[in-house]
Amino acid sequence: MISTAVSVPMPIVPRRRRTPSEVAAASPVDGPRRVLLAAPRGYCAGVDRAVIAVEKALEHYGPPVYVRKQIVHNVHVVSTLEAKGAIFVDENEEVPEGALVVFSAHGVSPAVVASAADRGLRTIDATCPLVTKVHREAVRFAKDDFDILLIGHEGHEEVEGTAGEAPEHIQIVNGPHDVDKVQVRDPEKVIWLSQTTLSVDETMETVRLLKERFPTLQDPPSDDICYATTNRQVAIKNISPRADLVIVVGSANSSNSVRLVEVALEYGALASYRVDFANEVDERWFEGVATVGVTSGASVPEILVQDVLRLLADYGYADVEEIVTAEEDLLFSLPKELRATLKAAGDTSHALGGRGTRPSN
Ligand code: SF4
Repeated sequence: MISTAVSVPMPIVPRRRRTPSEVAAASPVDGPRRVLLAAPRGYCAGVDRAVIAVEKALEHYGPPVYVRKQIVHNVHVVSTLEAKGAIFVDENEEVPEGALVVFSAHGVSPAVVASAADRGLRTIDATCPLVTKVHREAVRFAKDDFDILLIGHEGHEEVEGTAGEAPEHIQIVNGPHDVDKVQVRDPEKVIWLSQTTLSVDETMETVRLLKERFPTLQDPPSDDICYATTNRQVAIKNISPRADLVIVVGSANSSNSVRLVEVALEYGALASYRVDFANEVDERWFEGVATVGVTSGASVPEILVQDVLRLLADYGYADVEEIVTAEEDLLFSLPKELRATLKAAGDTSHALGGRGTRPSN
């Protein structure tokens, strides 16, 4: 309903919020109401491992456990860990000397590791192994004196961490619009790397434009955009052409969640919105909508998706079909600092790490 502007002040009479069934009755659609649920969705192996690392640290060392930056980019995960005794900080300087600090899944630069050592902090490095892989590539190509074009979002923690491995060799390319600004020392000795959670299509467009400028630009030894990001984008590409509306569960600072909204729109969804929680879903989104696509970013616990599905059922979208485009079962070991403690304590409950997922690409 659209409110009417009036020129004289009127008493505000609260409008009763319509029930989901009233909304459904007032909004006829062509065909049955249904949900197409993307799979894979939600937690990836790196996120699962990082969250378990904080939980295990709290269990074995007791609170407080400090965490530098959000362990993963999800509001619900962070507040749940805070309630258990985790304290999230932006920098090592906020951690009392000698205390325990966990580095987030997004990774840290060598300067951050050094500052923790200077303060005598005990550390657990929960950097995702697939981010560490990109760090190693950066170190290796810097050692060989390449100019490294790091495609990624300036200011994102992962990009800061990777760029910090070889700041004198790395320049950040924010996307296709940044290509013209790139300057290199020797066009014959240039390689591109990338953030792990970008849009696959946009990154390939950036690379295409970079190769127009630098025809001998080298590709990374293996894909830097990780399997989880790729799989979630493939899944939503499959659903979007059939969806009037796509709801992505994920936080605003979650790069891969935000990319899923963009990909849904690019691939044919008539509308797409990101929500942290089911109560952010707006009834106006359902007007004329027969098919709703649902997915979630790689840092989102499944419970939040189930909340959205319950809400959708209330609005008449009770018919849920899961569309599976890849199977995932990769496992990552817990951080080595924690493995030793768990072993000494006889805790084998997470010997390998999280639920895990297997790359399908
Ligand atoms: S999204 Fe990819 S890189 Fe990031 S934590 Fe998950 S698996 Fe690792």
